[in-house]
Order: sequence, then C-alpha cells, then structure tokens
Amino acid sequence: MGASTAKACIVLLLVALAMVLAACEDPDEEIVISSTAPNCSTGTATADISSDAPAWIEENFTCVEVAMDGDDIILKTRDLPPYPSYYYGAGHTLFDSTLPTDTTNTNRISAQDYTFTLTSTPTIATTSTPSGLGEVGVAVDGTIIFNNQTTPPDTLADEAATLDANTGHPNEEGIYHYHVEMAQLVTTGDDMVGIALDGFPIYGRYEQGETSAVFTGGPETEPTDGINWHEHATTEFPGGVPHYHIVEGYEETGTREPNMGITVELRYMVGSKMGGSKGRVARQ
Ligand SMILES: [Zn+2]
Ligand SMILES: [Zn+2]
Repeated sequence: MGASTAKACIVLLLVALAMVLAACEDPDEEIVISSTAPNCSTGTATADISSDAPAWIEENFTCVEVAMDGDDIILKTRDLPPYPSYYYGAGHTLFDSTLPTDTTNTNRISAQDYTFTLTSTPTIATTSTPSGLGEVGVAVDGTIIFNNQTTPPDTLADEAATLDANTGHPNEEGIYHYHVEMAQLVTTGDDMVGIALDGFPIYGRYEQGETSAVFTGGPETEPTDGINWHEHATTEFPGGVPHYHIVEGYEETGTREPNMGITVELRYMVGSKMGGSKGRVARQ
C-alpha cells in the first residue's frame, strides 16, 4: 500500500467515524433521504400537490408529493406519520412513550422513498385481483396501507397488540403501515381514509353523515364477491364511484405467543381482493 493510498484510507475511516458519531448523537439524523416528498417526522403535516391533481386528493391527503403524468397520479411519500408514535423510538421528536400492549415488535419507523403510480380514471376489472401482502394503498396521512393479512404463521390478531396509539406499526424494513382503522385519523367513522392501489377511494366504516357500518364480517364472509366495496355517489364523486369501506365487527384470535388466545376486533381497510387493476409501487 502506497503512502497516498494509506492516507486516503485514513481520511475515509475518519469520515465514516464522523458519520457514525453524528448518527448516534441525533436519532433524527436517520430521517434523511433523497425523496422530495414532505418530511412529516417534524410533526408538521404539509403536502405538495400539483394543481392538476384530482380535487379529492388535494383536499384529503397530506405528507405526500403529487404530480400528474397524463391520467396517472404520481404520489411520493416518505411514509413518516405526522404524529407521535412509540415506534419513532426514544429520543425522537415524535416519540410517544405510551407502550403498545405487546412490546415484542422491536422494529422502528424509518424513512422510505416511495413512488406510487395510480390511475385517476380507475375501472372495475373483469376479475378481482388478490390484494397480497405489502402495500395495497396510501392513507390520507401519507403512510402505507396493508391488507387484513400478515406474513404466516402470524395472524393479524397476533400482531394487533403491537399497534401503537394510532393503530399502526412498522415492519422489519421500518415501513410504517396500517392494517386497520387508524385511531388518529378517524374521528366520526365516515371519513375518507385513503386511496387503494387500484385508484379507488377508501372510506370509513360509515357512509358520509351516517353512523352505522356499511360492511361487517371477516375474511371468510367478505362482502361483494370478496371485496369490501360498492358503488354510489359521494361528496367527492357526485357522479358515483366504486369505493371501499372499512369493515367492522371482524374478530380474530391470536394463535401465537404472547397474544395467543386474545381475541380482538380488527376493522380492516382492504380485504384479500381488490376490484380494479393495481397501480405500480416503487420503493428506493
Ligand atoms: Zn403489520
Ligand atoms: Zn359507500
């Protein structure tokens, strides 16, 4: 090794050491990524939505950057919830010390760099599509929606006790996500809660201005050919729109320790199938 190479190595080592020390000093340092979407881990919810985006996106979504590409909604998000969570971890500005019932989930929220390509002119597909594990939509707070299933052998009931005060939690890749109705966002139960991967809106348990559940039941009794949706006019879509509703009254019992035998109600947002064609999800 030549003298100049050794010198370069030492410089590199010192730079690496400085980066490690900086990261240790400030947990917020982890929330630095290349995404141009708003960083809501500061606790301030902002959005950057292009004026040609559909009005219902502009009026309901935050913590996202949205641009249009023809009929496609290009939605970027860092997937950082704008409110306190246990899973931000001690030392973070938005750390919530309220413990989940089950603290065995050692994952912590980490900044993502998502780009969703979702059609603004969705149509019902001739056959339904399995919604699948992973991303099935984006919530109105810019965080990720998963369906009513978890990676086997866990059931959703096994994981339910790990949900934070807003009923979300991060997976092993730090991806913060909701499976079920979000405590933070839902106030009256008839709120719009997100957009599904097929471009259709997801509403709360109730129709707008009403107080009784549209759909009840679990995966074995999913409504409308296995899809928790139907079609009619809403405030945002006076001409009518197929839309999902959160499903109420589905109970599941945990099958694994430490939540074995615990039965919880899971108001899931997207069931095992979707009615339109899925858009694209890219995560850098
Ligand atoms: Zn989960
Ligand atoms: Zn409806």
